[in-house]
Amino acid sequence: MITALAGGVGAAKFLKGLSRVVKTEQLTIIVNTGDDIKISGLHVSPDIDIVIYTLSNVVDRQKGWGLREDTFKFLEGLDRFGIETWFNIGDQDLATHMYRTHLRNKGHTPSEITSKIARAFGIKNIKILPMTDEDVETWIVTDKGEMHFQEYLIKMGMIPHVRGINIKGIEKAQPAPGVIKAIEEATIIIICPSNPIISIGPILKVSKVRETLKRSSAKVVAISPLVGGKPLKGPADRLMRGLGLEVSSTQVAKLYKDFLDEIVIDEKDANEEHAIKSLGIKPLIIDTIMSNEEKAQCIAEQVLNLQNESL
Ligand code: GDP
Repeated sequence: MITALAGGVGAAKFLKGLSRVVKTEQLTIIVNTGDDIKISGLHVSPDIDIVIYTLSNVVDRQKGWGLREDTFKFLEGLDRFGIETWFNIGDQDLATHMYRTHLRNKGHTPSEITSKIARAFGIKNIKILPMTDEDVETWIVTDKGEMHFQEYLIKMGMIPHVRGINIKGIEKAQPAPGVIKAIEEATIIIICPSNPIISIGPILKVSKVRETLKRSSAKVVAISPLVGGKPLKGPADRLMRGLGLEVSSTQVAKLYKDFLDEIVIDEKDANEEHAIKSLGIKPLIIDTIMSNEEKAQCIAEQVLNLQNESL
């Protein structure tokens, strides 16, 4: 059994590669829902949708999110009413959010809804679990005030200076059904190349997740989302710096140190080898840039091979 902890774009690219080399029924993906937002009356769950769209080959590969060849007429329509339209929702994508919202209003849980959406997109065997069924929202504390992560990322273009983060609702968040079991029964646990602060961080804060990872006898392997000491995309560096952390794969390893066995880092960061080893964590140094599915698959194969090494 393979269990992966995942955010959005970086995770989805890796998981697509992984899904090409494992029996899909062996794979469980625990996805961050701290990025979720209620906007224009809709429940949007960006990381869940990115993972589903990518695994089912309908994602807009250029952007990394949304559906390929989607149109944005709905947003143009909203514009007419002077409603804020900074959060990009394509017309086909809108159907997913409407369906999720409809089921939420009928009392279905995020877990139930996620599995229905995954099935509708043709994903039958891979288990995709939200980290929790409770509502959690990641807010960023900045010099321009506190704002939802999506507002910081999209509306404000990551310009405000980060002072801290506030994951609202996380104290009460219980793991969604199947989350703890998936960690307990895994033979390898993979922390995807995702933002360690706002993608993996919230999953680790869900009740019992971190302690179950610590207890696990499975090999725990992370793939660093940093290449050449910085993220390929997104605010990982700004968030890490804002929290007073160094921006490096060594720092990523430190954030996971209490449960991590090995970390895959990019060859551009080979100079970090000794610092990582001194944490008691084994580095695997390879090219980690997933420019296409074949490369993502190649990285996944190398991660899976680590299972056969002794701890
Ligand atoms: P988000 O929620 O959509 O921002 O997605 P994630 O947290 O899963 O992914 C964001 C992280 O993925 C960024 O820090 C990127 O640097 C990282 N990432 C994206 N593509 C790649 C890649 O090809 N290789 C590596 N190593 N990291 C990547």
